[in-house]
Amino acid sequence: MSLKSLSEYERLAEQAHGHLCAGQILGLRMALYGMKLLALADPAGADRKRLVTFVEIDKCATDAIPVVTGCRLGKRALKFRDFGKVAATFCDLAEHRAVRIVARETSRQRARELYPAIQSSNQQQMRAYREMPDEDLFETQWVQVNLAAEDVPGYKAPRVNCAQCGESVSFGREVRRDGAVLCRACAGERYYVPL
Ligand SMILES: [Zn+2]
Ligand SMILES: [Zn+2]
Repeated sequence: MSLKSLSEYERLAEQAHGHLCAGQILGLRMALYGMKLLALADPAGADRKRLVTFVEIDKCATDAIPVVTGCRLGKRALKFRDFGKVAATFCDLAEHRAVRIVARETSRQRARELYPAIQSSNQQQMRAYREMPDEDLFETQWVQVNLAAEDVPGYKAPRVNCAQCGESVSFGREVRRDGAVLCRACAGERYYVPL
């Protein structure tokens, strides 16, 4: 296994996401650029244990990123921070370095300039996002990411049971309050109301 061509990734992204769209191309390009900057040639294979990806939006582009990186939520290698930005940070745990890549706001305008004859803006952007240089699509910054031990894939710790609801909690996500162990829901972060 190693990196595939953009068109191969497009096929895989279409399957995973349900349709091919400009966001898929942008997400694929973003992940490929991240792998290039980190010099990781086989993210989903030989390098899979050294890579963690943070994504900052729950939108089309986000679905395309794991297609390249292999970083999935269920593997604990994909971290979601809901900042509402088309941005991702690729962390190489082996080299202790990370790069954050942000989609440039000017890309849409550039797509219009490149392909004024294409009516659909999605088609226009798909075409342009395949061809535009990385630097025109993205802004990058090298960053330091302090990943807590319990956030690293492969972290092992005993599960604990919430003193209030009895449900079990993994990865140190419990809250200790007045000597009691509580899940985050019972500690006040509940996002649902029991009926
Ligand atoms: Zn889409
Ligand atoms: Zn609870």
